[in-house]
Amino acid sequence: MTVLLFGPPGAGKSTQADLLSRKYNFVKFSMGDILREEVAAKTPLGKKIEKHIDGGVLVPDDLVFKLVLKFLDEHKDEDLLFEGFPRTIRQALSLDECLSQLGSSVSLALEIHLDEEDIFKRLTNRGYCPTCGAIYNFTTNPPKKDQLCDNCNQHLVTRSDDSEEIIRKRLKVYADETQKIAQHYDTPQVYRRINARGSQQEIFEKISNIIDAYCSKE
Ligand code: ADP
Repeated sequence: MTVLLFGPPGAGKSTQADLLSRKYNFVKFSMGDILREEVAAKTPLGKKIEKHIDGGVLVPDDLVFKLVLKFLDEHKDEDLLFEGFPRTIRQALSLDECLSQLGSSVSLALEIHLDEEDIFKRLTNRGYCPTCGAIYNFTTNPPKKDQLCDNCNQHLVTRSDDSEEIIRKRLKVYADETQKIAQHYDTPQVYRRINARGSQQEIFEKISNIIDAYCSKE
């Protein structure tokens, strides 16, 4: 099966993608993480990507597609979870086309929804570990030791695109481009919207219930 997870910045896509991949053995494709790895490696591709991420705008499709095609080629026979891709109708159409060539299609398109006030609260309090990628919220889910990762004792950092100005830009890009994905996949079997207010565990259970129901029908 192929599951898509999308939602505004700060809705918790990445956390849920990790939990779901572990539970259901999905091979995870996390576009934001893959792009940031490329930037951290300071490759020529990474340098091109960096200015888009830091500006809060989308990375051009040709760069993004290359990474998706490589992933699909390596994992086409497995259960897949895409997080942060597709983010535009054009990306959705390309993904549909690639999957159809593999005799497959999107099984579930899950939108994790959160309103703007909550998004700002979450993102302006967010820190992550540059070594293991663990995400913390300094108010609701702080590390045990001040500013240090619980897993590897590394100093937590703030994402370069988590400033108020860039968060606003990312939200606008989401409203203008990504929200249309919901209409694109809008059949009761495929598209489901999940309210992301609540604990990580509550949201995880809601999404798990949707996936379990889908699997029991298959
Ligand atoms: P968030 O959803 O919180 O904004 P992500 O880590 O998913 O965080 O994405 C961070 C940035 O990476 C985006 O603002 C954008 O610049 C880039 N990006 C992620 N996914 C895509 C995509 N599918 N297409 C183009 N750019 C992307």
